[in-house]
Amino acid sequence: MSDRYSHVLEQVAEACAAAARPASDIHLIAVSKTHPVALIDELAALGQIDFGENRIAELADKQAAVTAPDLRWHLIGQLQTNKVKQLTSDVIVHSLDRLSLAQKLQQRFSEQAASGTKLRCLLQVNCSAEASKSGVALADFEKLTDDIAAFNALEIVGLMTIAENSTEESVVRQAFATLRGLSETTAARKVFPGYLGWLSMGMSGDFTLAIAEGATHVRIGTAIFGGRPSTAGHGL
Ligand SMILES: *Cc1c(COP(=O)(O)O)cnc(C)c1O
Repeated sequence: MSDRYSHVLEQVAEACAAAARPASDIHLIAVSKTHPVALIDELAALGQIDFGENRIAELADKQAAVTAPDLRWHLIGQLQTNKVKQLTSDVIVHSLDRLSLAQKLQQRFSEQAASGTKLRCLLQVNCSAEASKSGVALADFEKLTDDIAAFNALEIVGLMTIAENSTEESVVRQAFATLRGLSETTAARKVFPGYLGWLSMGMSGDFTLAIAEGATHVRIGTAIFGGRPSTAGHGL
C-alpha cells in the first residue's frame, strides 16, 4: 500500500504543477470504505490525515477503533435521514443533497450550534444529470441553497460531485467545470456566510482532471488501497 500511496502523492503533485497550483491547495481524502482499521492506522503512520467513508455506521466504528490520533473523517456517501443521529459534528459531510436531510441535520445539531459548533457540509450536485446518481439536480441547486441558507447549525463550505464514469476526458472535465462554475456563483451570491469554495471532486480514475479543473479535495480509494470486494462500496 505504501508504494501505491506514494505514487498517488506524486500524481497529485504533478497534476498541481501542470495546473500551476500549489500542492497545498489539495486535500487528499483516503477512501477507506470496506478496508480494515489496520490499513487506516498504517496510512496514518505515513502522514495521511483525511479519511472518507460512505456509510455512517462504518465511519463511526472505524473512528472509535483507530489508534492514530487526530484524523479527520469525511462522510462521502448518501446519508439517510434515519441515520442522522449516528453522526457527530466533527465529521465533514460531502453528501448533503436535499432539503429533508438538511432539516434533519439542523434539528440534530441546533443545540451545538448555540454553543458555536456547526456541522461542516458540502452540497452534492449531480452535474452529469445521470438518473442513477445522487446529488441535487442542476435545475434545483439554487433553490436548495436558498432554502438551507438560514439553517444556522450547518456551515456550507463547498460543493461535491461524482463525474460520469466515461472514457471521454471532455465529458468528465465538463462535470468538474460545471461544479466549479456553480461554486463561483454561490460564492458571489453570498448565500452562505462560512462558504470556503471547497470543491470535492475526483476519484481514482479522474483525480488529475479534477485537479486541473480546480478540485480542493480529491477522494481516492482504489488507487491507494487496491480493489474492494465487488459487492461493497456502492452507494454512489
Ligand atoms: C468509493 C468512493 C470514492 C473512491 O472511489 P475510488 O474509485 O476507489 O477512488 C470516491 N467518492 C465517493 C463518493 C465514493 O463512494
